Amino acid sequence: MLVFIRTVLSLVLTALIGISGLFGMTGDKATGHDDYKEYKNVILMIGDGMGFNTLEATKKLRNVDLAMETMPVLSQSETRSLTNKVTDSAAGGTALACGVRTYNGAIGVYAFNPFANRWQYPVSLSEYAIEQGKLAGVVTTDETSGATPASFSAHAIARGEEKNISNDQMTSDLTLVWGCASESVTPEKCAENGFEYLTTRAQMNALEEGSRSFAQFDWADIADVKSEKDTPYLAEMTAKAIDLLDDDEDGFFLMVEGAHIDKFSHSNDFNGSTAHTVEFDKAIEVALEYAAQDGETLVVVTADHETGGITLNESTGEYYYTSGSHTGVNVPVFVSATDAGFVSGEAYKNCEVSTQLARVMGADEKDFPRIKI
Ligand SMILES: [Zn+2]
Repeated sequence: MLVFIRTVLSLVLTALIGISGLFGMTGDKATGHDDYKEYKNVILMIGDGMGFNTLEATKKLRNVDLAMETMPVLSQSETRSLTNKVTDSAAGGTALACGVRTYNGAIGVYAFNPFANRWQYPVSLSEYAIEQGKLAGVVTTDETSGATPASFSAHAIARGEEKNISNDQMTSDLTLVWGCASESVTPEKCAENGFEYLTTRAQMNALEEGSRSFAQFDWADIADVKSEKDTPYLAEMTAKAIDLLDDDEDGFFLMVEGAHIDKFSHSNDFNGSTAHTVEFDKAIEVALEYAAQDGETLVVVTADHETGGITLNESTGEYYYTSGSHTGVNVPVFVSATDAGFVSGEAYKNCEVSTQLARVMGADEKDFPRIKI
């Protein structure tokens, strides 16, 4: 009888352990993620200063549909910095690059760290991707040392430290750093660190797979979208960058910035800001086409902040600027897939957008955000 009872107990226990094991597995992080899928490649596209009403004004004034609005997920980003309700592009870029909020003016450094400098900083998505064996690139229509590209490729206590920022970029492990010319970038220093130096569209198009490159395009030519260009449009830069990055079996991370949406909004110039929103959207279209055919690439489109406080006059039906500065409103977060952990209608802190992109590239809590010493 005792043996019988033991046997029954043993069977019941075994069954219970089995059932709990099953439940355990479904919640076990080591077996996978319940709420998002990992992607081999991530393309983060930042429309500097691009708010919801920048898009509305663009559609109305240019009579266009926007490729970004075809993306299946639309969330929001809360754009403030640690110290200010209204962020600048440095703290905004750092939140999107490093998953941490910091003080306005900071490039990839912590706020409350007296040793915040190049030897002790939060890793960026570019650096995390490179740690994972991926290739990383930064493409912008701003100067390469501008606050947004700098946040993804440098660490400096102030955005004005152009020399330090350019030096970090020229000695980085990135595969490409492309944008407008910045004072301290020289062909010699680029070559010393294995970067091909280029200034024209023809040179960009001639780049071959396996190369590393540093582009210094002409500012005025990039800013004027209608000029007879010797410099590439952002969409061309995006296509070529993807082409150069996509042969690594571990994948890639690419940041693409449309910088002049912000710059023209500061001067309340709808003609310029909407023209550059269209240019940025054409680059998004290139990334989305690649992602659709590749199947392993996630595209996320957002902004670091809104610029100009664009609002609608209900009686005239016209959009107008209410500010010459940045504002603190939420900005769009468009995501190319529904399984990447972003939920339509949800508002995330700007730094959480970055953290989720690191997760999508395989990071867990200890990997990102993380201090690098
Ligand atoms: Zn900005």
